[in-house]
Amino acid sequence: MPELPDLIYLEKRLSPLLAGQRITGAEVKEPVVIRMLLPGDFATALSGAEFVGVRRHGPFLVFALSGERELVIHPMLAGRFQWTTPGEKTSTGLAFSLECESADGSTALHCLHYLDDKKMGKVYLTHRGEYGPIPKFDEQGPNLLSPEFTLEYFQQQIKKSRKQVRVLIMEQAVVSCIGNAYADEILFCAGIHPKTFCYQLDDMEIAKLHQCIIEVMRWGLDEVEKANPPLHMKARDHVRVRNRKDQPCPRCGTKIRRAGVRGFDTFFCPTCQPLKREQFIDWRKVSKA
Ligand SMILES: [Zn+2]
Repeated sequence: MPELPDLIYLEKRLSPLLAGQRITGAEVKEPVVIRMLLPGDFATALSGAEFVGVRRHGPFLVFALSGERELVIHPMLAGRFQWTTPGEKTSTGLAFSLECESADGSTALHCLHYLDDKKMGKVYLTHRGEYGPIPKFDEQGPNLLSPEFTLEYFQQQIKKSRKQVRVLIMEQAVVSCIGNAYADEILFCAGIHPKTFCYQLDDMEIAKLHQCIIEVMRWGLDEVEKANPPLHMKARDHVRVRNRKDQPCPRCGTKIRRAGVRGFDTFFCPTCQPLKREQFIDWRKVSKA
């Protein structure tokens, strides 16, 4: 799934491309991803609309359109965008395309494509600000790179959870936009084994983890911007442990290992991220998550 650095990169790249563009035609290949929250047909409703702006809300990209409408896209696992000239080949998994031209006709025609190999993403066309019918829209945790994401907030979330740390930091309602790749990088930064439970962390470890979430996301964004990949590709060459089984740990040289946590593959350094001994769990002291 696109994670926070990928999403911020998309928002930054798409904004100037779409500014002042008018949709001259729309073609839907996979109606299964479309959710019309307005009357009428998707392609007809979009034709003639102008892009007013692009913003990110958690994992959603919100495209403001003329006529007080918004196109809200939740890419889920595999949703991607591509910007081409007409006739240029698109990547696999085309879900829909919008043909665009500048409102004053000064630049050549372009197409914005939404691709989704798994067809799990969702695309909503709605009235501006009407997000009630969009699942998860109003249930996103704070923006990790804003002052809202305080240590106090994060401490409370950790202390009331019975889950594994890795599971908790991937919960969108707790901390938005962390997926498998950056979850591994964050735990590596913090020196926390991926099977560690929240109750096993002391205050210093929680503070370190909070700091690593922010640092790793800033670093990830810098690296993605440096790599400057085409919109439909994800930059992941910079990761230090993710998908690096049997390669040397960049910190100590030990071979990176792979393990499963709740059905997800996780990668870690067994030396830098030692497993904590099982402890007696006094559930009376851990409130229900
Ligand atoms: Zn190591």
